[in-house]
Amino acid sequence: MSPPTPETLSSTNPTHVSSTCKAHNLTPDEFATLSRRAAEAKQLAYCPYSRFRVGAAVLTADGSFVTGCNVENASYPVGTCAERVALGRAVAEGHAAKQEGGGGGFRALAVATDVTPPASPCGMCRQFIREFLELDAPIIMFDKNRDYVVLKLGELLPLSFGPDKLPPPGTPGAMG
Ligand SMILES: [Zn+2]
Repeated sequence: MSPPTPETLSSTNPTHVSSTCKAHNLTPDEFATLSRRAAEAKQLAYCPYSRFRVGAAVLTADGSFVTGCNVENASYPVGTCAERVALGRAVAEGHAAKQEGGGGGFRALAVATDVTPPASPCGMCRQFIREFLELDAPIIMFDKNRDYVVLKLGELLPLSFGPDKLPPPGTPGAMG
């Protein structure tokens, strides 16, 4: 059994954008910037093997945007997805510093590809995103025409395992 397919929305439809922004606590400017920066990051993808370009943009708690693209490797499994590049870069730039124990440092993540319908983050990336974004944070997936699907992280990764499931650092582990 597969879950229902979410509705594909249009970036150029003011009603769609307005309802997305309202539902996910984004301003229209933030939404537009996520879309533009993810598409721009896609141009920089290093993907000579798959030829599948992906760009990602993450909106930080302080209103900054940090981008990433997929970076492949001749040893295929070594390659990294755009979402993990963007979040790793954001962490390295200090945007996760305020949120010990995980969560809260980032408000939204967008991805852009050259296909339609929109592609969604792979399973590994969903887990990686789970470390840093709240379960109600929007993951916005743009297709080649900038039409999009938006889901909350918790909808993309139900019953997830995250930092809150572990005992706090310095305390006895699950075995006591
Ligand atoms: Zn991935």
